[in-house]
Amino acid sequence: MDVGELEFEIEKVESSRLSQTDFNNLTFGREFSDHMLVADFENGKWSRPKIQPFKEIAMSPAACVFHYGQAIFEGLKAYRSENGELLLFRPEMNFKRLNASARRMCMAEVPEHIFMNGIKELINIDRDWVPKTEGHSLYIRPFLIASDGFLGVKPSSNYKFMVITSPTSKYYSGTVKVKVEEKYTRAAEGGIGAAKAAANYAASLLPAKTAQQEGYDQLIWTDAKTHTFIEESGTMNIMFLINGTLITPSLESGTILPGITRDSILTLAKDWGLNVEERKIKVEEVIEAIKNNQLEEAFGAGTAATIAPISTIGYRGVDYSLSKSEEWGFSNKVRQVLSDIKIGKSKDNFGWITKV
Ligand SMILES: *Cc1c(COP(=O)(O)O)cnc(C)c1O
Repeated sequence: MDVGELEFEIEKVESSRLSQTDFNNLTFGREFSDHMLVADFENGKWSRPKIQPFKEIAMSPAACVFHYGQAIFEGLKAYRSENGELLLFRPEMNFKRLNASARRMCMAEVPEHIFMNGIKELINIDRDWVPKTEGHSLYIRPFLIASDGFLGVKPSSNYKFMVITSPTSKYYSGTVKVKVEEKYTRAAEGGIGAAKAAANYAASLLPAKTAQQEGYDQLIWTDAKTHTFIEESGTMNIMFLINGTLITPSLESGTILPGITRDSILTLAKDWGLNVEERKIKVEEVIEAIKNNQLEEAFGAGTAATIAPISTIGYRGVDYSLSKSEEWGFSNKVRQVLSDIKIGKSKDNFGWITKV
């Protein structure tokens, strides 16, 4: 039998933790819903995927993931519409990106059936965990790790694919103060920057912490070779509105994560007739634009916050302040439109919504 036809094995919790969870007081990533999805790749094939109670897993201490870092993940959200339907935003993009990351990290690819139907089944079983308050959502974290208990340096033979979910409240980021990073590097050409790999996050922690100690919220990463071109902001893509043109670093270098929020914003902007440029962008160009009053808006883009407006850019010891983000036309409009599409309030012109 082909794995595409395998049904999910389902083991439900004896008693739900739902009533012990304070939905008015959620910390991102702290509370987890009752169930999780697990599927194992062993002997060259995927096992029957299982939905089971969320709990600890047992693995060999020699598992490759602990030693050589074959670990990738995804992040998406389930939203509740006004009439109570559960909606996913472009989950097929997460599926494709997970497998693009898997190929780069030399890992087994996850079958579409397990990813897409697994998430739908899981959300359906834990549907009461999708918050009812507008703006709140159920964060979905699919991930893939190398599970082979073998210390030899080679791609693992076995993998574990899992999905856990976490109810989250409205992400209120306020505005962010960012520092242009010229010493450390997130990703180099030829490296794994375009993969959603755990290792990219590990490498970013020290530089981010250092910037926080200097009073910044986040970094603006620059290219590894010259530190003159802008790449991303923290764990988000970055966009600038300069003189009426929306500019974002192009994906060509292979050092930038192809964000789904990034793609959605670019699609909407083009649809609205805005001039859009995906290209290399120098730090100096942005600083010049600030000095000449031509930088209209600047923001991070990602699933967690959707849009995180930048209030200040620190560059070579000088803090450059941007205008008040409440007055920014484009970013406020695109945030509102995206959030309306996600909860089924706005027409889904691009076929972005999948019902659970
Ligand atoms: C996940 C991620 C993003 C944003 O991607 P979305 O699909 O929009 O959530 C941007 N940059 C990095 C480094 C990321 O890991």
